[in-house]
Amino acid sequence: MKILLASSEVHPFSKTGGLADMVGALGKALAAAGHEVAIVTPLYRGIRERFTNIQPTEYRVDVPLGATRVQAGVMELKLGPRLTVLFVDQREFFHRLALYGENNSEYLDNPQRFIFFSKAVVHLARYHPWGLPDIVHVHDWPVGLVPVLLQHEQHSTGWQAPRSVMTIHNLAYQGRFAGATFALTGLPRNHFTPAGVEYFGDVNCLKAAINYADFLTTVSPRYAREICTEAYGCGLDDVLRARQSRLAGILNGVDYDEWNTHRNIHLRHAYSFRKMAGKAENKRDLQRELGLPARADVPLFATVTRLADQKGMDLLLAALEEMLATDIQFVLLGSGDPALQGGYQRLGQRHPGKVVARIGYDHALSHRIEAGCDFFVMPSRFEPCGLNQMYSLRYGAIPIVRRTGGLDDSVVDLTDDPEHADGIKFTELRTRALAMAIRKAIVLYQTPQLLATMRHNGMTADFSWSRTTEAYTKVFQRALS
Ligand code: ADP
Repeated sequence: MKILLASSEVHPFSKTGGLADMVGALGKALAAAGHEVAIVTPLYRGIRERFTNIQPTEYRVDVPLGATRVQAGVMELKLGPRLTVLFVDQREFFHRLALYGENNSEYLDNPQRFIFFSKAVVHLARYHPWGLPDIVHVHDWPVGLVPVLLQHEQHSTGWQAPRSVMTIHNLAYQGRFAGATFALTGLPRNHFTPAGVEYFGDVNCLKAAINYADFLTTVSPRYAREICTEAYGCGLDDVLRARQSRLAGILNGVDYDEWNTHRNIHLRHAYSFRKMAGKAENKRDLQRELGLPARADVPLFATVTRLADQKGMDLLLAALEEMLATDIQFVLLGSGDPALQGGYQRLGQRHPGKVVARIGYDHALSHRIEAGCDFFVMPSRFEPCGLNQMYSLRYGAIPIVRRTGGLDDSVVDLTDDPEHADGIKFTELRTRALAMAIRKAIVLYQTPQLLATMRHNGMTADFSWSRTTEAYTKVFQRALS
C-alpha cells in the first residue's frame, strides 16, 4: 500500500508530545512492513540546521487561503528505501520559536497556519511525483480538515481521491476557531453544518475529521470506549457514537531502537533484565546530577510530563505534601501551567535534598530519569495512550498510574494478575487514592523479591510496533473497502 502520513509534529524533527513519537515510529514500522510511506510535516525553524541531509526540491505548493494564495517549497529527506519525509517550507507560518504558541498562549494565526498546511497535504497527495497514495492518514486537529478537503477535491474535479484515516491522539485539543475562519477553507457553505465542520457556530477541525474520515482510530482500546461517553467525550461523544462502527482503538507501540537500556547514547550505564547493576549506577548518577543524596536505600519517584490539567499534576503535588514526611525522593521534569511550575519549584525549595523540579524540556534527561528512577508516576485525569508508562516498564521503573485510557491498557496491577503484575494502579481521582498508591510503592521497595519480579515482568513486556502495524494495516484495508 502507498500511505501518506500527515502530522504537525514528527520525531526526531519536531516534538511537543507523544504524537511526534507515534508518527515517527509508525512511519518507520509501516515501511519496514513493506508499505511505501511518505510523511508530510512542516519545516519548522532549526530543522534544516540539525538535519543537513534534507534536500530542496523543485516542487511548489500553491493554494488559495481565503482571499489570498499561499506558496511554499517542499524539501525532502529519504530515511530508507520506502520511507520519505516531505517538509512543507512556508517560512512565514513555520519559521518560529515554537510549534503552536509561545508563553502559554497559542499563535493567533493558527487557523491560517494549519488550514494552509491541510491544503498543502491535499496538494501533495494529488500532484507530488511521489505518486497517488491509497490512504492519507492524518493525526489530530492540525490536519483535521484534510478528509473533507479530499472529498471536496473529488466532487469538484472528478479526481479519484485517496481514502482517509484519522487517528485521534487527544480529544481535548480540537482546533476550534471562530465561524468566520470557515472562509479560509474555500469549501462550499453546505459543509458548514453540524453534520460537517460546524460546532456551535465555530469551525471545529477535529469534528470535521470525525464526520468525514473513512475510518477513525484512537491510541488505545479503552480510550476508544471512553471518548464515546459524555464524561470523556469533550463535547464530541455524540458525533463519535454516530461513527462508532468505524472507530478502533489501537495501543501505540514503542520504538525500542530509541527507548532501550542496553544501547542508548543518553545512558552511561547499560543494563537489562538479566544484568540490573547498571540501573543502580544510573540512579546514583541521576541523584548526583540533580543534587540529591546518592542513596540506594531510598525510593526515587519521578515524572516527565507536560504540566497540563490532563496529567493530574495538581493531585500529585497534594499527595507529595503528605508523602514527603516519609523517606522518599522525587524528581519532576516538565513545563506548562505556570501555577504548577511554581508549585513544584516551591516544593523543591521547601524540601531540599528530597525534591527536584526541573522546569523545561530535555530529551536526554528524560531518558536518564526513566533509567534512574524506581517509580514513575502518571496520575492522569484522562490519558489517550501515554508513552512514558511503557518506556518506564522497559527501563525497570515501576509505573504508578490511574486506571484510565492507555494507562489501564498497558499496566498490570497485582490485584489484576499477580503473576504478570508490573505496576501500581489506582482508580479514584483523589489525592488520598494517589497517596495510597505511593504508600504501596514504598512497601514494595522494601520487598526486594516482589520488586524484582515486577521489574522483570515490566522489562520483558512487549509493546513493539509489529502488532500495532498489523492493526493499522487492517484499518487501512477497511478504509479501502
Ligand atoms: P502527551 O503526548 O500527552 O504529552 P505521552 O506520554 O503520550 O503524553 O508522551 C509524552 C512524550 O513527551 C514522552 O516521550 C515524554 O518523555 C515527552 N516529554 C514530555 N515532557 C517532556 C519534558 N519536559 N522533557 C522531555 N521530554 C518530555
